Order: sequence, then structure tokens, then C-alpha cells
Amino acid sequence: MYVCGLTVYNDMHLGHARTYVAFDVIRRWLIHSGYDVTFIQNHTDVDDKIIQKANEEGKSTADLANYYIDRTTEDMISLEIMEPDEMPKATEFIDSMISLISGLIEKNNAYVVEPAEGSSHSDVYFHVPSASEIFGTLTGQKIEDMEAGARVALDTRKQHPSDFVLWKGAKSDEPSWTSPWGEGRPGWHIECSAMSMHYLGEQFDLHGGGSDLKFPHHESEILQSESFTGVSPTVKYWMHTGFLAVSKEKMSKSLDNFLLVRDMLNDHSPQVLRFFLLNAHYRSLVDFDFDLLSESSSAYNRLSTTFSNYKNIRNSGSSEPSALFDSISTCRSKFNDAMDDDFNTREAISALFDFSRDVNKYEPSDLTEKSQLAVIDIFDELGGKVLGLFSYRNQSLSDEEIEDFISKRNSARENKDWSTSDQIRDDLLETGIELRDTPKGTRWRRL
Ligand code: AMP
Ligand code: ZN
Repeated sequence: MYVCGLTVYNDMHLGHARTYVAFDVIRRWLIHSGYDVTFIQNHTDVDDKIIQKANEEGKSTADLANYYIDRTTEDMISLEIMEPDEMPKATEFIDSMISLISGLIEKNNAYVVEPAEGSSHSDVYFHVPSASEIFGTLTGQKIEDMEAGARVALDTRKQHPSDFVLWKGAKSDEPSWTSPWGEGRPGWHIECSAMSMHYLGEQFDLHGGGSDLKFPHHESEILQSESFTGVSPTVKYWMHTGFLAVSKEKMSKSLDNFLLVRDMLNDHSPQVLRFFLLNAHYRSLVDFDFDLLSESSSAYNRLSTTFSNYKNIRNSGSSEPSALFDSISTCRSKFNDAMDDDFNTREAISALFDFSRDVNKYEPSDLTEKSQLAVIDIFDELGGKVLGLFSYRNQSLSDEEIEDFISKRNSARENKDWSTSDQIRDDLLETGIELRDTPKGTRWRRL
């Protein structure tokens, strides 16, 4: 699968997280279902906005882009998004893009035009009517509608209003590469044709992005790739995520209504953010507000508390109720049905809640070890490995080491040495281990 990556001129916001967490879970579910998944996600590291910001900051576009590639990669890791198998940068594939564009010119799908104002290097356009039978595959639009829509042709060098740029001639102070048409840089759409083809071939299974990428980005990608290879469809399944919005408006850098992932992570765990994002179908619009996030946080805590109550139990009993095993199979089958029905994470989460309610009827320590482990396993597998809702990162202390700290703290408490006892609790919390004193003793969980 190929997922369009970030244009790297700023930190990642919660809208980006929505899309990348959704595709992370889609990938995890495919792996869980037995598919061998190759996951490619590019970085767009040259583009108008990057050039503008680099100029403002007096940096090279490469320095600016690399800075944000590092930071957004950190953010993705913090959100426990699995690392892509390959993360190519557009600028590493300029030669492939030039070959693609040359091929399209040879096949009469593209044409060279005189330089734009302010440049002495030519541009190249894709001629949409040359592939009219392919146009509209994703969005159902017709070329005639495009003509009607385009009032005055803004760019008189275009042969048709819907033609789009494949290669932009360099203006002064812009990063550029040498091509048969002079110095310049690629258009955005050709990047993804070049990189997806390089890694996944002329036809591949799944291509994703946010719904704003359907048109023109993905429609253009189809036109370019299919005209060049003659193979159709170039992508078997296109998938597009709904927006994360604020008051129904897409969260975006340009609208200045964004919340950065790294800021959000100061106050919320990655698991709560993932839970919030996944508690909606990936195609639906999610309207963000803090009340909704705090409801999600409470709901998530209910779920994770059930899981940690089972994980942290140290005693077992003799009860092995068949109803518990029935609940496990019901949960598994509801979860599978939901995920197999267009990756319905909302329904899948609801299956985990039903299960959590069922198992809360039991006192974990009354159950046999087999029963306890069966509960832990299913939470771990479906909630943890598939949805990424339980952290595996915080394993710096082993369970035994944590238990040792707890017994030291208990001794301190017996000696009324409250400052040591508080210190141990605070130190553990710093490493992501929360202690809770209950009538049955101290319980702990990894946050
Ligand atoms: P960009 O860096 O703006 O090209 O965005 C990278 C990816 O994030 C694209 O697939 C966008 O569609 C997606 N994206 C950007 N903003 C949002 C949003 N508010 N909600 C969902 N996806 C978004
Ligand atoms: Zn793309």
C-alpha cells in the first residue's frame, strides 16, 4: 500500500494524525488477517509552501524539509504509528519523474510550453483530453464539466483548462534540477506516480490519503500512471479518510485552526488520542472539540482499567466460567466482522466495550490463570496489536522491578515515611507507571 505523505514545512497537526492513524490501523488489520503488507509513505520535500517558508527563515528547502521530516517522524512514533517500510523523499526520485514525463510527452499525453513569467525555463503540462476515457475514475467528473467550470483560462499556455503541470521551470532563487526542458522541479502529482511505481510496480493494491487528495492529486496520478504504463487500474483500491474538522471546517495549516500533535501529547496520552481518532469510521468527518476529547479520555480509561486489572493480578482462583469464554468468542467475531466491513474501528471498539462489561462481572483473582490469560490475550491482540490502544513502549521496568518498588514503598508506608513513599510513587509515574492504592492492596498500570 502507498499512502501520500506530509508536505514537510510545519509540524504535524491532529488532522494529519487522523489520516495516518487510520492507515496505520488498516495496515495492522491487513497484517493481522495474514496479508504480507509493504507500506510506502513519501515525503513531499519540495513545493511552493516549502520554498516560501525556507526563504522566510533564510534556510535551504532541504534543511527546512529535513528538520520537519525528523520532527513529524518523531510525532508519528509518539502516536505509535508503525514505521513505513520505505519513506522516500520526492527529491530522491527526480530522475524517475523526468523519465515518466519524457514518456508522457512521447505518447502525446504531455506537452512543453514556453516559460512562465519570471522564469526562463519551460514548463510541461499533462493534456487531460488525451486520456479522456480515464478522466473521472475516482470522482465521476467529466471533462466537459471542467471546461464549463473554468471561466477565463488563467494560464493561456494550457491547451485545455483541466491540463495540469508535470514540470515547473525554475524561477530565480528556487531549488531546481536539470531536465530536457531546462532547470526546474516536478509538479506534485508526478511524485506519487514515480515513487509508487518504483516500489510497488505498475499495479498495486491500495492507495490512500485524505479525501482532499481525491481531486486533483489522485485523479491526476491515475491519468499519469495509466497513460504511461497502459496498465489499468493502476490501483485496485483507493481509500480516503474523512476530515478532522473544527466547527465543520477542515483542520489545516492554512486555516490556522490547527492543534499540533506534539502540543496535544503534553496533556493527553497517545492512546487517548488514538482512541479519540479511531472511535469514528475512517471515512466520516470528525468534528473536534475538547469536551469530546475528554469524554473519549474517560471512556478509554474505563477500557484500559479493565485490561490493567487483569494484567496486574497476581493470584488466581478456581473459577473458569464458560460464559467468559463465550464472551471472548463473541468479542472476537464482532470485532472481526466490524474490521472486515470496511475497517469499521468504531464498531470494533464497541465490541471491546461489550467484552469489558462482561468481564467486569468477575473478580479477576477468583478466575483460573487460564481464564485470566484468555482475557489478557484478547485485549492485547485486538485492542493492543490491532488498534494500538495499549502501549508496549513503556517496558523500561519489568513487572518484577515494579513489584519491588511497590514493596519498598509499602515498607516506607508502614514506617510512616511518607516522603519516601510519595517519592517512589512519583518516580514510577515519571516512567509511565501509575500506582493506585485500593482496599485490596496497591495496583499498578503502565500508562
Ligand atoms: P498535507 O501535508 O497537507 O499534504 O497532508 C498530508 C495528509 O494529511 C493528506 O493525506 C491530507 O489529506 C491529510 N490531512 C490534512 N489535513 C487533514 C484533516 N484535517 N483531516 C484529515 N486528514 C487531513
Ligand atoms: Zn500523493
